[in-house]
Amino acid sequence: MGKRRRSVQSGNFAEVFRAFLASPPAGTPSAILEAFGDMVAAEPRLLPPRLFYEVVEQSPVAISITDMDATIVYANPSFARVTGYSLNEVLGKNESMLSDKVTPPAAYKTIWGRLLQQKSWSGVLVNRRKNDERYLAELTIAPVLDAAGRTTHYLGMHRDVTEMHALEHQVRNQKAVIESVVNCAPVVVALLDETGRVVLDNLTYKTLAADLGVQEPAAEFVVALKEAMGANFDRARATGTGFARQEISFDPGGGGPVRWFSCSGTWFRESDGSADNFFEAHEQTYLLLVANEVTGLKQGQEEVRMNALRALMAEDELVQGMRETLAGAIFQLEGPYNMIRAAAGILERRANSTVENEALLSVLQQALASGDQAIDALRGCMPAPHMEPLGPVNVNQVLREVLGLCTSRLLAAGIVVDWRPEPMLPPVLGYENGLRGLFKQLVDNAMDAMDEGNSSVRDLRIRTASERETVLVIIEDTGPGVSAALRLKVFEPFFTTKRAARRRAGMGLAMVQDVVNEHAGTIEIDPTYADGCRFIIRIPVRHVPAQGQ
Ligand code: FAD
Repeated sequence: MGKRRRSVQSGNFAEVFRAFLASPPAGTPSAILEAFGDMVAAEPRLLPPRLFYEVVEQSPVAISITDMDATIVYANPSFARVTGYSLNEVLGKNESMLSDKVTPPAAYKTIWGRLLQQKSWSGVLVNRRKNDERYLAELTIAPVLDAAGRTTHYLGMHRDVTEMHALEHQVRNQKAVIESVVNCAPVVVALLDETGRVVLDNLTYKTLAADLGVQEPAAEFVVALKEAMGANFDRARATGTGFARQEISFDPGGGGPVRWFSCSGTWFRESDGSADNFFEAHEQTYLLLVANEVTGLKQGQEEVRMNALRALMAEDELVQGMRETLAGAIFQLEGPYNMIRAAAGILERRANSTVENEALLSVLQQALASGDQAIDALRGCMPAPHMEPLGPVNVNQVLREVLGLCTSRLLAAGIVVDWRPEPMLPPVLGYENGLRGLFKQLVDNAMDAMDEGNSSVRDLRIRTASERETVLVIIEDTGPGVSAALRLKVFEPFFTTKRAARRRAGMGLAMVQDVVNEHAGTIEIDPTYADGCRFIIRIPVRHVPAQGQ
């Protein structure tokens, strides 16, 4: 076949190619390529044609060009390497020689559907090499159009992705195995990224979120852990040591039981696989949080603790009762004693002392001496109040204990308790037993008031809140309330309005006032509350109380 020289009007390679395709020369593939090369060479503004030829020839991608029936008219050496056929074996053959029957016919239908619309197709097919070995071909087929926009040839480019696919599959399988193991774990598992977002969780975590009615329990856990561990939390993160068996509680409020969790955490780094960080490695830190619910165990421990508390409070009440009785007796004695002292004083000051007066004075002085003895003896019998150590007190916990101690009486009296603790209440520095006694007294008073008032609505509402370095506790009942005239008087010692058995001889609120004073707090009866009685107690968080002052 003789050489045919053609020329094109423009210097654009695409147009040269289109002109070539408009009337392709006949002959062997290399003769066709040579003719094309001549055409390009005739165009002075284009790169040398040999270059294009070598680019395609040396490409590591398997490239083939076919006619409209998919008969191969050109294939590069990579095509021979990937398929195992020599170039002579593939030229003039249909691309279907590579097809494997496991590729569903629908896949070919899709390919040809797109090619007939002059659109390219990309995807993965199962191909078969000359040695009958199957391989996965990641293939792109594109139509080649002539100047008039008609398809004249097809260009196929593929590479063997069998190994990559096997690896991907392996990774996917491993991920699925890990996910199902994590999902089956009976503990709460959550993986948090640097922003605290949960990127992986398990079924137990999802169930817990639904149970607690919160969107991301992990965020609440982290807040509670930081609170419980203080600086140790950041230290565990910085040193990478993590933490283990750290107990936290979650109070859902609304009367629901407090849930306890034992948490462990491990921080680990993972390199970021995004394109942005391809050359400059960037590591993300993740926190793997594992939490085991220990509410049952805690409830058992709590019961033992409550029994111990009950015994302690009973003893405290006994001591307090004896102190009050003796103080009451001294108070009662001091009335006539002071009158005798006054009478003796008058007699002593009289100028005209008679024998009768002297005798009377002597009797009065004897009475005073035995009065002194009696008062001293009573003071000596007074048991010393319990001194307790100062420490951080969780007011929510103390109030919950008080409610626990009063449960049977509350149930028997048909009192509905509305308990609304602030979930993250700061601890106050104080005397736990003193504060427990204070709140127990107020709750006992509320129950007494509702009993005595015979109110049809029996609600006990207790709320806590934190307010500018102060813990606020509000205790409301629906009893008869305290009249304006008595609002201050009720805090005085030996004052009581109770008709029924006077268990405390009017010392309850005086004791409450004492404990509040010890903590530099305030207590008041809300004058605006009309449905019963509302005590408002404020205790500063950081004040260092001085017991007994
Ligand atoms: P075929 O009878 O060849 O085709 C199946 C269906 O495809 C037919 O029912 C018909 O609807 C449609 N079809 C086939 N040829 C045409 C056509 N010329 N015009 C319109 N519709 C048509 N296949 C592979 O398996 N592996 C490859 O690597 C591969 N590379 C290719 C590269 C190029 C450039 C082209 C154009 C095609 C390629 N093919 C490849 C597709 C191949 O040509 C076959 O269509 C396919 O292998 C199915 O072969 P078959 O003998 O099972 O069925």
